[in-house]
Amino acid sequence: MDHLNKDLVQLDEILNQVQKQSSAYLNQLHNRPTTGKVNLQQEVTFHEKGRGTLGTLQYFNERFEPAMVASSGPRYWGFVTGGTTPAAIAGDWLSTIYDQNTQSGKGSGDISAIIEFETIKLLLSLFNLPKDFFGGFVTGATVSNFTCLGAARQWIGKQSGKDFAKDGVSGLIKVLSAMPHSSAVKSLAMLGIGSNNVTKINVLPGNREALDVTDLEDKIIALNGEPFILISSAGTVNTVDFDDFQAIQKLRKKYNFWWHIDAAFGGFAACSPKYKHLVAGWEQADSITVDCHKWLNVPYESAVFFLKEKHKLLQMETFQNANAAYLGNPLENFSYLNFLPENSRRLKALPTWFSLMSYGKSGYQQIVESNVANALLFAEFIQSNVVFEMLAPVRLNTVCFSLNDKSKVDEFLSRLNATGKVFLTATVYNGVKGIRAAFVNWRTSGADIKIATEEINKILTEL
Ligand SMILES: *Cc1c(COP(=O)(O)O)cnc(C)c1O
Repeated sequence: MDHLNKDLVQLDEILNQVQKQSSAYLNQLHNRPTTGKVNLQQEVTFHEKGRGTLGTLQYFNERFEPAMVASSGPRYWGFVTGGTTPAAIAGDWLSTIYDQNTQSGKGSGDISAIIEFETIKLLLSLFNLPKDFFGGFVTGATVSNFTCLGAARQWIGKQSGKDFAKDGVSGLIKVLSAMPHSSAVKSLAMLGIGSNNVTKINVLPGNREALDVTDLEDKIIALNGEPFILISSAGTVNTVDFDDFQAIQKLRKKYNFWWHIDAAFGGFAACSPKYKHLVAGWEQADSITVDCHKWLNVPYESAVFFLKEKHKLLQMETFQNANAAYLGNPLENFSYLNFLPENSRRLKALPTWFSLMSYGKSGYQQIVESNVANALLFAEFIQSNVVFEMLAPVRLNTVCFSLNDKSKVDEFLSRLNATGKVFLTATVYNGVKGIRAAFVNWRTSGADIKIATEEINKILTEL
């Protein structure tokens, strides 16, 4: 019997083994190194007849399993890296098992978009956002930014009677922003708007990364009524600073612009009564980006876009499969493939649906508040040691710091990461070499802060 048919017969055994290995991994995640050692001397051997799934599992375990790092564990504080809640893992598994190609809610053959609509409603409720947003799932905040800015690009064209989606981009599109995330700038490159085409707004004085509203208004006035795109931040990556959305709201009454907010992780401030003031006013934006594989703690690849329902036509014009007659009229015959970049997608909403259903609003409030508390605890340690300096205050869930002796930053960080106990990433803030620790994992506890600070103290005695 060939391997494919044999695998079908022993499907239960395959799933049992994968389940056992998964449980073993997840139950030991807190002990798993955060930095991998790769030792791949031999080349892969590609068997003519294959190895079968159990044989391949064994081969994977020999070759790659030891290199898997605890990136979803409690002490992986590099970049902004979320973990995976048990419910999200369950939902993610089932997405694979049911293997729906999520498109429509009423079409023949597929109704899985109903789950996606429902999940978007739950997310809007989690964030206290109004129901006049239409949303959907994409692979990450990069593609969410791309989707939102794609609709914005079409809006800009419409202001002068042009259809950029059909005829191509013409003329310079004005984009204003203070601290856009690199992925938003990358989206401008992909959209033909041009990554160099961003007018930089000053940030506020006093070690801030939020835009200076006075400077924004000056630069708007200089545009002489020309429509533009504003990219604002609900959480900058270095110091998690937020633009003043209430002030931006007021400018909207006076000027004609598309307002996009990148709230990839900072949007979760809305989950806590303590921090929701940071996003006050964001409900008026035309489009919002939120990552799910960061603070929502669902597996990669998952993010959502929220676009105001009134912009649905612009969105459709940008993303429709115009020459596929068999798909019907996109407005009558709804399918997600006419409203976002991907055509085929897995049932991405399910892990989020499972996690929201399982832990509720209070579960996420608890994750957010506990992560912030741990960021503050870690910052306290940094501040109490004369070797270090804080580069900015802790505004939410990230500690941005450095060593007083900047020549030792690289060595300190590589030694710390080499312990495999904790993982942090380097940054440059205001021209200064620094280090970031970002807390978005539901598993992180005070005990993890203790483990990390003990490792740091050991390294400092050697440095
Ligand atoms: C992480 C991040 C992104 C990019 O997200 P991906 O999920 O990696 O595509 C965009 N904006 C902000 C503010 C982020 O933190």
